[in-house]
Amino acid sequence: MKDGIRIRPIGMSESEVQGYYSGLCNRTIWPLFHDAIRSPQIEHRWWEPFVSVNARFAEATAKEARKQDVVWVHDFHLPLAPAMVRSLRPGARIGFFLHIPFPAPELFRWLPWREALLRGMLGADLVGMQTIDDAENFVRVCLRLGLAERSEEGLLFEGREVLVGAYPISIDTGAFEGHGQSERTLKSAARLRERMSSRRTILLGVDRLDYTKGIEARLRAFEMLLRSRAMSAKECVLVQIAVPSREHLPDYAQTRTQVEQAVGRINGEFAEPGLIPVHYFRRSFLPEALAAYYRAADVMLVTPLRDGMNLVAKEYVAVRTDEGGALVLSEFAGASRELTQAHLINPHDVESMAGVMLAATREGAAEARSRMSAMRDVVRRHDVYRWADEFLRMLQS
Ligand code: UDP
Repeated sequence: MKDGIRIRPIGMSESEVQGYYSGLCNRTIWPLFHDAIRSPQIEHRWWEPFVSVNARFAEATAKEARKQDVVWVHDFHLPLAPAMVRSLRPGARIGFFLHIPFPAPELFRWLPWREALLRGMLGADLVGMQTIDDAENFVRVCLRLGLAERSEEGLLFEGREVLVGAYPISIDTGAFEGHGQSERTLKSAARLRERMSSRRTILLGVDRLDYTKGIEARLRAFEMLLRSRAMSAKECVLVQIAVPSREHLPDYAQTRTQVEQAVGRINGEFAEPGLIPVHYFRRSFLPEALAAYYRAADVMLVTPLRDGMNLVAKEYVAVRTDEGGALVLSEFAGASRELTQAHLINPHDVESMAGVMLAATREGAAEARSRMSAMRDVVRRHDVYRWADEFLRMLQS
């Protein structure tokens, strides 16, 4: 029981963790759905554990659910579950939400199990995606593979309508605003600024240590600014919080090495006595501690190569109840669809990204405030409660 919710854990054997989670979830679907920025591995031996773990979740759900209950299946780990639940509980209303991007049909078709995955998801009554592009990609690939026909609000599949739509996820805006205004956060933020030398511009990155997040490209952009003397260690500091993630997978170990080499290279070359240009923390912080960093940062750098949404961008905006700070945001993060007043960048174009980072640090206060105020309106109007409400209302309509 947690927060009044009864949780039923589902067990997995060690070989299922390997094949299902580390294999098909994290080495096939994750990279493929993030535009194949790392090569997806395709291994047939991972399929059987993927099916059986999905089935185990579906069976446990069917056992808990009464005939007409609403069932909401989440994310890329469980795409087969909606159809499995439907066959066990035909009267249930079933929703599926994908938290990561849904790729273009040309990429999705790389999967040997493409049809099974789509049939699994089409078992839902409502398929929700982060953005309209993701929803369209899903519809297009179902049509392309001849699995379904277009209907007014989605697809016709086996005599049923499957609604398909964009439901951009959000954050608990009120909670982050609360952190942003608390005495404790403000004190810690002031202390952080003091310790990093109060006159320096603070640039901040907060990411899982994942190759999708574009940390290395961001560091290269910063390095370019130092090298060209547009910035110096006296004037600015980049704080990078990197949360360890999926460390046993080779692509992640490689990303960590690349990031750490870049940090070492930049600090080696551009540090001055008492002034380190990159502060690198490979650990995770509690939300309250993170809020102090958000509040202390002049420029937040959210530069993923691809991201379903990116909640850090929304959290930064929510914490800035002072309407201070600037957000540099990748156009390949779902959040860029809503936070259109951010300084949008293309992280594949490191030179231009560096230029925008510099412009964001030099922007006039009035212009910065007006951008932040517009972005704050967005996250206040649309928080995670509204997201859940809209999805569930549509599912039950
Ligand atoms: N986060 C955290 N502690 C940290 C760094 C991040 O709790 O030290 C949280 C952050 O507040 C956010 C989430 O991790 O809610 C990251 O979500 P996001 O959508 O940005 O990226 P994901 O990791 O889901 O790909």
